[in-house]
Amino acid sequence: MADKPLAAATAPTAAAPPMLPGTAKAPPRLLRSEEELQRLSASERIRYRLVTADRRYHANDNIAEFVRPGELAELKDEVALKLQQVLEALVIDTVSDHNTQETALRVARMYIDEVFAGRYKPMPTVTEFPNAERLNELMIVGPINVRSACSHHMVPIFGRVWIGVLPNEHSNLIGLSKYARIADWVMSRPQIQEEAVTMLANELQARVRPDGLALVMEADHFCMHWRGVKDTDTSMVNSVMRGAFLKDANLRREFLSLLARKGSA
Ligand SMILES: [Zn+2]
Repeated sequence: MADKPLAAATAPTAAAPPMLPGTAKAPPRLLRSEEELQRLSASERIRYRLVTADRRYHANDNIAEFVRPGELAELKDEVALKLQQVLEALVIDTVSDHNTQETALRVARMYIDEVFAGRYKPMPTVTEFPNAERLNELMIVGPINVRSACSHHMVPIFGRVWIGVLPNEHSNLIGLSKYARIADWVMSRPQIQEEAVTMLANELQARVRPDGLALVMEADHFCMHWRGVKDTDTSMVNSVMRGAFLKDANLRREFLSLLARKGSA
């Protein structure tokens, strides 16, 4: 009995778009198959997969698992096309100015293959070794030179990172060069220094699982040097302290004093 008014209420009007039976409640985006997605641009396809997976895709998020083989090349062409429009909007003659003829493509390649590669490429492979020697002494890695870009202005950030690790018998150890590789992967994205350091700490925490983890980053921000106040002396220092470094003031002091000797800020 209750069916009748309901059926009347949902009966399609002449103006309503055609609807497949049984799909009325499904969000329209779920109707797209990978085959249908091929008609979209690479960025639309990747974004579609991110949205349907309910995954965040902020400037400093890695989205490698949503990029299919060949799509980075398509993405580069797409970015180059849009950058060409930016140059045209800046009233730059990219036809007769030989310096800017290839600029859009060069910058697109630089973004995707180099300076923002940490968004599009999977995490570098890192072999973890069990702590066979049961090392439990404070270990300091650094300074690691890092390059990033601020996500507010897309201008460079040049910095140095120091990492303090207090392993326990269950910790995994990773090779010294791997700290630099992971740091580069996290920093090669448009970043905010505080978030970058926290992200790097999370990656190291998950792999090494130490009793204590400390990170200090000192960086020059080109949004301070190149624009804005044009202050060339300002650098920013921030740190993350976890586990034993939070609880033990002596350990924290030991770490910071070793940094001072290694030439920190
Ligand atoms: Zn900035």
